[in-house]
Amino acid sequence: MSDQMKRIFGIDLGTTYTSIAYVDEFGKAVVVPNAENQRVTPSVVFFDGGNIVVGDVAKESSKIYPNEVVSFIKRSMGEPDFLFSYDGKSYRAEEISSYILRKVAQDAEQSLGSKITDVVITCPAYFGINEREATRMAGEIAGFNVRQIINEPTAAAIAYGTVAISDKRVVMVYDLGGGTFDITLIDIQPDAIQVICTGGDHNLGGKDWDDRIVAHLVQEFQSQTSSDEEILEDPDTCQDLQLSAEKSKKVLSQREKTPISITHGGERVKVELLRSKFEEITSDLLERTIHLTHEMLEEAKKKGYNSFDEIILVGGSTRMPQVATRIQKEFGKEPKIFDPDEAVAKGAAIFGWKLSLNDGLVRRIAAKTNRNVEDLQGDVEFSAQEVEAAAQELADEEGYTLPSVKSSLVKVKDVSSKSFGIVVNNSQNEEIVYSVILRNTGVPVEAAKRFFTAVDDQETVLIRIMEAETSEKSIPPEYAIEIGTAVMRLPSGLPSDTPVDITFSLNKEGRLKIKAVESTEGRQVDAAIETAAVIQGEELAAAKMRSQGLVVY
Ligand code: AMP
Repeated sequence: MSDQMKRIFGIDLGTTYTSIAYVDEFGKAVVVPNAENQRVTPSVVFFDGGNIVVGDVAKESSKIYPNEVVSFIKRSMGEPDFLFSYDGKSYRAEEISSYILRKVAQDAEQSLGSKITDVVITCPAYFGINEREATRMAGEIAGFNVRQIINEPTAAAIAYGTVAISDKRVVMVYDLGGGTFDITLIDIQPDAIQVICTGGDHNLGGKDWDDRIVAHLVQEFQSQTSSDEEILEDPDTCQDLQLSAEKSKKVLSQREKTPISITHGGERVKVELLRSKFEEITSDLLERTIHLTHEMLEEAKKKGYNSFDEIILVGGSTRMPQVATRIQKEFGKEPKIFDPDEAVAKGAAIFGWKLSLNDGLVRRIAAKTNRNVEDLQGDVEFSAQEVEAAAQELADEEGYTLPSVKSSLVKVKDVSSKSFGIVVNNSQNEEIVYSVILRNTGVPVEAAKRFFTAVDDQETVLIRIMEAETSEKSIPPEYAIEIGTAVMRLPSGLPSDTPVDITFSLNKEGRLKIKAVESTEGRQVDAAIETAAVIQGEELAAAKMRSQGLVVY
C-alpha cells in the first residue's frame, strides 16, 4: 500500500471483548492478535497505581482488586451520571473505553510495525446519539482520527456480504454479544447493503446468562451449607463466581455438564451443572430475544419485507447451542454461525478499506477533472467513465484487482434505530413528545415540522430534543429521554401561533443537527445540541492529555 493510501483499521469495541482488524494487501480482512497472542482482548481495565492494564491480566485481577477493575464499561457509555473514581480522579466511560482502544491498537502497531492513525469503530445499532458520540470520543481521546462509527450488525453484514454471497438476499442478523442483543434485517445486493429495520435490547447479553449461573451457584451453596448467607456481598466471592460462571457457560457450549467449585468463608462446595439445567434457568432470556425478533419483523412488514432468506448468527453468545436450536424451531430455517467473534471487526475493517479506496478514487477524479477534493466528498455521483478511469489507475498503483477497487463503491445504507422529536404542548395543554424523525427511517435523512408559538410576544423557544424507541408520532415524555436542548430567540412583538419550522438532520452515522426558522422574519438558529452526557470542552482536552502520557499494558 502506498503512503498516499491510508490504512483504516476496524475496531469492534465490545461489551466483554474488543478486537481490531485491517484489510491486508490481498484485500482480505484479518484480525490482529494482541501482545498475549489472543485474537480478542477482554474489555476490562485495571487501574494499577500509575499504570493502566487492559485485557486478560485486568480480568484476572478483578478477583483480587474488585474496586480497581472496571468491566462492562460499554453499558455506561453516554450516561451523564457515570463516573469511576480512582486515586482522587474521576473517569468517564469514554475515557475508560479509550484505554481499551489504545491497548488493542498499541499491540497491533507493535505486531505490524506501523502506526495506526485512522479507525472505524462499531457500536450496537440501537445506540442513541449520546452513546454514539461517547464512542467517537473514546476514539478521539485515544488519539485516533475516527473516520466513522458504524453499526455492529451492518459491519457483520458487510463481512458476510463480501465473503459469502454475490446475489440479492434479505438477511436477518441475530447478534447476541456479551452485554447487548441486536436484531437487524438487511437487504444485501451486489452494489448496495441496506439496513431495513433494527431492534434489540442493550441490557441483554451473555452477562445475563452468567448472572443466572451465579444465582444458581449461590442457591446451591446455601442449600449445601444449610445457610442463608448472602455470599455475593463478599466482593472476592462475587468476582470468583462471575468468572467461574462464564467459564462454565463456555464449557456447556461443548459438553453436557461441567463441575464447578464454590469457595467462600473457608467452605468449599462442589456443584455439577447440567446443560439442561442451564438452559432451563435461562430460557426466559432466550425467549426475550425471540420476542424482540418478532417485534422487529413486524416493523419490517410495514416496509414491505414479509420474509427473509437467511439468518446469520454473530456475537460470542450465539455459540450457546440452544440459540441456534431455538431460532431454527421458531423460523424454520437453519441459522448460519458466521465468524461470531470476528465478523464485526472484519466488517469494520472492510468498511474502512472501502473508505480509503474511495478517498483514493475521489482524489484521482478531482485531479483529472480539475475539481477540489472537498467539493467531491459527500454524495456526489460520478460518471461511469470517471470511475472506470480512476479505478483502473488506483488498482494499478496499489496492486489491487479492478473488481476489488470497484467494490469500494458499494453503497451502505443504514436506518435510525431511534426516533427523534421535541416536547410540545398538545391541544389539551399537556406536554407530549412529537417525533420529527421516526425510528427505522433510512439515514441520512432531513425532516421538518412546523410548530407554533404559545403566547403573544414570546421571547424564546426552548427546544427540548428527545430520543425514544418508538414508531408512534406522539408519545408521553416519560417514554423518551432528553438528549439536549437548544434555545431560539424570537424577534419581539410576534403574536401567539407564529409558525416556527424545526428541521432535524440525521447523518449516516446517526449524528443529529437541528435548525429552527421563525418564518415571518426568516430568523434562523442553528442549534448546536447541548448535552451533559458526553465528554467535551476542558474535560475532553484534559482526558486527551492524560491519554497521551499513558502507556497501556
Ligand atoms: P462478544 O461481545 O460478541 O465478544 O460476545 C462475548 C460474549 O460471548 C461473552 O458473554 C462470552 O461469555 C460469550 N461467549 C464467548 N464464547 C462462548 C462460548 N463458547 N459459549 C457461550 N458463550 C460464549
